[in-house]
Amino acid sequence: MTTLTNKTALVTGASRGMGRASALALGAAGARVIVHYGRNASEARAVVDQIRANGGEADAVAADLASPDGAHVLAAEVRNLVHGKLDILVSNAGISNAASIETITVKDFDSLFAVNVRSPFFLVQQLLPITGEGGSVVFVSSLGARAAVGTLAAYASTKGAINTLVKYFASALGPRGIRVNAIAPGVIDTDMSNFTKTEAGRATVMGMQSLKRIGQPDDVASVVAFLASDASRWITGDIIAVDGGSKL
Ligand code: NAD
Repeated sequence: MTTLTNKTALVTGASRGMGRASALALGAAGARVIVHYGRNASEARAVVDQIRANGGEADAVAADLASPDGAHVLAAEVRNLVHGKLDILVSNAGISNAASIETITVKDFDSLFAVNVRSPFFLVQQLLPITGEGGSVVFVSSLGARAAVGTLAAYASTKGAINTLVKYFASALGPRGIRVNAIAPGVIDTDMSNFTKTEAGRATVMGMQSLKRIGQPDDVASVVAFLASDASRWITGDIIAVDGGSKL
């Protein structure tokens, strides 16, 4: 069991899905958790309440990460809340789009890059003044960045960009004692992956996975908690597949 006592964590997109599971895991490990959300205040409040009910500390903060200053607004709120030190950033919020090469629009393409790449980039930039020695940044990449999965070209390119950021940020921030890694989930049962709710969708997933079940948010959250913790102190610049052995 990893311990995150006396650590403060920000998890973006933490009101549901993998972000929610990660926030709960970090809270259970003893971290104070800042639960970021986009629109759903009541879901975020429920996550905060659950962490507190288990004896932990948590707060909810709203920010629209699709807007050009979204990361700046969120970072300013976080700087106010934590009074000087953030130990863990889990940059999880993201959007997906499965439109084909023929049908994706410029607007949708730009939205993908705004939320999935621009906001994580500037969130790290804006939080640097309060992140120091022992800090851990965990990005959320995707299996789609390593292998072609369905019609996810535009979405998967945003995760390819995340994989590149991992290398550059880990290289630049290592001398300050800050580690930067990503997890690359396969298909996980969340609102984003609606096709896991159909028989055909499940069959497709099983066909490309070694482990024969659909991944759950908790399968990812435990790896996030590991990367956030001192147990992974010698790991940086890495992208860890959390995909039940997909596309081996
Ligand atoms: P999800 O849709 O349940 O969660 C996405 C979260 O991001 C939500 O909390 C949402 O509110 C937040 N978000 C989206 N746009 C936002 C905006 N403009 N401003 C603020 N918050 C915003 O899906 P999930 O599967 O839990 O996704 C979490 C991460 O995992 C994403 O980065 C996604 O790309 C990645 N991922 C998902 C899968 C999968 O199969 N579900 C696989 C690989 C990677």
